Amino acid sequence: MAAISATVLAFVGAGERIVAVRNCYGDAYRLFERLFPRLQIKVDYVDGSDPDAVAAALPGAKLLYLESPTSMMFELQDIAHLTRLAKEQGIVTTIDNSWATPVFQKPISHGVDLVLHSASKYLGGHSDTVAGVVAGSAAHIKHINEQTYSSLGGKLSPFEGWLLLRGLRTLPLRLPHHMKSGLTLAERLKAHGKVERVNHPAYSNHPGKKTLAGYAGLFSFEVTEDVDIPAFVDALKLFRIGVSWGGHESLVVPAKASLEQTPGLNSMARFGVSPRTIRFNVGLENVEDLWADVVQAFDKSKK
Ligand SMILES: *Cc1c(COP(=O)(O)O)cnc(C)c1O
Repeated sequence: MAAISATVLAFVGAGERIVAVRNCYGDAYRLFERLFPRLQIKVDYVDGSDPDAVAAALPGAKLLYLESPTSMMFELQDIAHLTRLAKEQGIVTTIDNSWATPVFQKPISHGVDLVLHSASKYLGGHSDTVAGVVAGSAAHIKHINEQTYSSLGGKLSPFEGWLLLRGLRTLPLRLPHHMKSGLTLAERLKAHGKVERVNHPAYSNHPGKKTLAGYAGLFSFEVTEDVDIPAFVDALKLFRIGVSWGGHESLVVPAKASLEQTPGLNSMARFGVSPRTIRFNVGLENVEDLWADVVQAFDKSKK
């Protein structure tokens, strides 16, 4: 969030406007909804999968805020196309690339100006560090350094930096494993009688897929009405309850929990995400153990 706030605030000020994709990360949404009105910065949300909707919202905006795929719903954007639309009007483009990591998506090579990462997720990879990254041209980074970064306080401690270096060394090895296990579970969930849909970019036909070289292990699915979601989540043993992701261990978070935590300030509530959505962070455990855990939890979740 330090990278997100320092980056966005370096390029917009009072009386100005940004365009953000709907279902962007929850705390980014809360930053835009809580703080930005006090700074007189306006945010328009668009369905980022629809280039016409983005084109219609862009005129006069200062910054385009992308996240592909989006949080919780995993909707894709055609980042090369959208960046081109923004560039034509001199609008800075940013993308939250935490999900794909540089291993699976390289937005700068598709024209994005500034790439954001929560390094607390895959880059760290061990759920023991909190850090963020913004990457871009020297001129853009200099601008952020001068305008916001040095005064907003988001500085990395040496210990976190050391943990991050440790994590980065195995990033290219971890990601393909997360991908394979994630796809295995997504496929089996898709065929499970208690699952209505699986939100995983692998099942999308959107052109935004072409910039993804692979899939992370984070996705969501919607369960049928007769599943008692708290009972399901409590019955899981290998998937622990947790809102973070990108670490070695599997985690589960029901959309309902997040909706109840921040009811008035929740992009999922605003954009109609079903409360029957459950998100899995598929970790590095044995995938058959993970699937057995899911099956036994469904058996214990009958209403
Ligand atoms: C977790 C997350 C963030 C924020 O990360 P922190 O490191 O906790 O500040 C930003 N974007 C996405 C997509 C995330 O999932």
